[in-house]
Amino acid sequence: MIKALNIYDFSKFELEEFLTSKNYPKYRTSQIWRYLYRNNIDNFEDMKNIPIDLISDLNKYFFIEKLKEMNYVISKDKSTYKSLFKLTDNLRIETVLMNYPSDDHRKPRKTICVSSQVGCALGCTFCATGQQGFFRQLKTGEIISQIMYFKKLEDKKYFDSYLSKPEKSYDGIKNIVFMGMGEPLANYNNTIKAIKILNDPNGINLGARSITISTVGLVPEIIKLSKENIQINLAVSLHAPDNFTRAQTVPINKRYPIEMLIDACKKYIQQTNRKIFFEYVLLSGQNDSTSHANDLGILLKGMLAHVNLIPVNPTKLSEYKRTSDSMIIKFQKELKKFGIPSTIRMEKGIEVSAGCGQLATSNEY
Ligand code: SAH
Ligand code: SF4
Repeated sequence: MIKALNIYDFSKFELEEFLTSKNYPKYRTSQIWRYLYRNNIDNFEDMKNIPIDLISDLNKYFFIEKLKEMNYVISKDKSTYKSLFKLTDNLRIETVLMNYPSDDHRKPRKTICVSSQVGCALGCTFCATGQQGFFRQLKTGEIISQIMYFKKLEDKKYFDSYLSKPEKSYDGIKNIVFMGMGEPLANYNNTIKAIKILNDPNGINLGARSITISTVGLVPEIIKLSKENIQINLAVSLHAPDNFTRAQTVPINKRYPIEMLIDACKKYIQQTNRKIFFEYVLLSGQNDSTSHANDLGILLKGMLAHVNLIPVNPTKLSEYKRTSDSMIIKFQKELKKFGIPSTIRMEKGIEVSAGCGQLATSNEY
């Protein structure tokens, strides 16, 4: 008995190899790919114009993994939809869809915040996923399935039924951010493979520039990523300008201290010519003084960088307090002195634990 494989785990090239090994013509690859990723089929039988023997072979060797939604929650302002999914081994992950209204520069858009691991081994002290510990890597197909789930709701105009009028014009899923559960660069191969599937113009067709990987700062993988020749956005979770402060909340800083991390970031920028987004979670009394901002300015001066300042979101086990608005403005002003652009990121869905660092499978719905 052959164990069926999840077809979402396959790259287009691997699918083509499978088909040619069974003597099917190459052009079947693109046809099947379109059915999978454009038509979002649930069963191989739903494909038209595909010979019956091929459908039967696909059924013999593959299945299409659809995630089971155990629960979901919608934020009060209806901007955010969070799902709890059950994986085939009964482990669970959370995924978030966010609706953004238009602003001065951009049209309204939907962003999916995907998980890359079940839990996380890196234990940042302010993060609910880190507090939960690590269970396992997500497979490529499990990353893709999260997106396919929301695409299906989108295709059914599900979000229109609860979004208020202006948001109804939101046209489709435009961005994917690897900011859900886990550290994407610690699941390097599956993350990159998933990005290539997302990217394929014949399928989901999401431009690399619409995809962001957020990393806690795994130095060898940042260097590896710089050589991939994909135009994705990289966000680096810095959270402090010096090793003493950073090591208190980000344990991996002991392995990859700030000098090594910044050096890797500079190499990344040099190699890719792309800006890095530095994420800085503001923790009251810990890393948010003007002197920290000054040190951050010195550290990042002259780099092709943008800083995202994120007031900390509450989690069950951490006691950090949010920085006051006036302190955030001061922090931002200080950075400006060094010519470093920054944005204050006001997160969505905090009251339903759908914000950055709040995802955990123990969340109550
Ligand atoms: N492991 C990756 C990506 C997942 S976390 C990383 O650490 O970058 C995504 C973002 O959420 C990171 O910038 C992380 O620092 C931030 N984050 C974690 N806990 C948070 C919290 N309680 N409040 C606000 N942001 C948080
Ligand atoms: Fe892991 Fe990122 Fe959370 Fe740190 S912030 S524990 S790296 S998911």
